[in-house]
Amino acid sequence: MSTSTIRERLEEIRRQALEALSQSLEPAQVESVRVRVLGRNGELTELIRSLRSLPEHERPVVGQLANQLKRELEERIEALARELRRRRIEQSLAQPALDVTLPGMEFGRGRIHPLTQITGQILEIWTAMGFEVALTPDIEDDFHNFGALNFPPDHPAREMQDTFFLEGGRLLRTHTSNGQIRVMERRRPPLAVVCPGTCYRRDELSVRYSPMFSQLEGFMVDDFGKVTMAHLKGTLTEFLRAFFGPEADVRFRASFFPFTEPSAETDVRCIFCKGAGCRVCKQSGWIEILGCGMIHPNVLRAVGYDPQKHAGFAFGMGLERLALIRLGVEDMRLFFENDLRFLAQF
Ligand SMILES: [Zn+2]
Repeated sequence: MSTSTIRERLEEIRRQALEALSQSLEPAQVESVRVRVLGRNGELTELIRSLRSLPEHERPVVGQLANQLKRELEERIEALARELRRRRIEQSLAQPALDVTLPGMEFGRGRIHPLTQITGQILEIWTAMGFEVALTPDIEDDFHNFGALNFPPDHPAREMQDTFFLEGGRLLRTHTSNGQIRVMERRRPPLAVVCPGTCYRRDELSVRYSPMFSQLEGFMVDDFGKVTMAHLKGTLTEFLRAFFGPEADVRFRASFFPFTEPSAETDVRCIFCKGAGCRVCKQSGWIEILGCGMIHPNVLRAVGYDPQKHAGFAFGMGLERLALIRLGVEDMRLFFENDLRFLAQF
């Protein structure tokens, strides 16, 4: 490169740099001009590096020009960057000030789901009455969910439209009564156990039904003659008065279940209308709470007990139902929709 070409090139770099700076409104734009011209591989930096190839006598003159331009651009860039930073501060000071008295952002606080709360209260009552808590599997086989519980082979509950069947003959338990079988086949009386858990049936989610729901199974087994229907009635009445209040009125109606004999359904006098009749109790004055009975001899045999030597009672209750009644809510779906406006009320 001849010296005149270098002079022209220097002039061109200067002109372009000044023009780019005059159009820069942001510190970032100024910085990009600096990198392009003065950076390690910048236009001017490259040019100064190339001067080494000039004949020695030509170097001082153009070298001086190049260094002058370098200083000039450095100063301009520094001044412009300082000016732009100052303007930015002035602008932000001119903005309305932050109002520190405004309320802060609210963060929702988690709480225990109402169904979990009620289940906890129910388990507390049972454990205070001497029952132990046992957790048993959600995935079951036909024997523990139906066969051992004295369901006949053609019982409608075993059909596809009621039960979720899995591969290999397994199924999702349709009730927590499998807990009775699971505990009894492992242990010997005396036993007083409650088994809370989730159950599954092929129901559509509606006001009263859900394909997934919670139950609590309970049972007490001892020597024959030590546990009778009278103990069953006394125990359940005690539980219902602990749960609904000491004045709760309880009645037992004869019923039928495959796994108990005799069987009964247990009602409490409607806590909403005090028995006068309302929408919740369907004008009957009573609300059905649970099913119960003396454990069927076939069930005792299925777990290897001798029905001549041992006897017991069993009961099962729907936890959503108890929670709905206790909370005065009518729609089962509210427990599963996770609408915070509902959940936050409890
Ligand atoms: Zn009522």
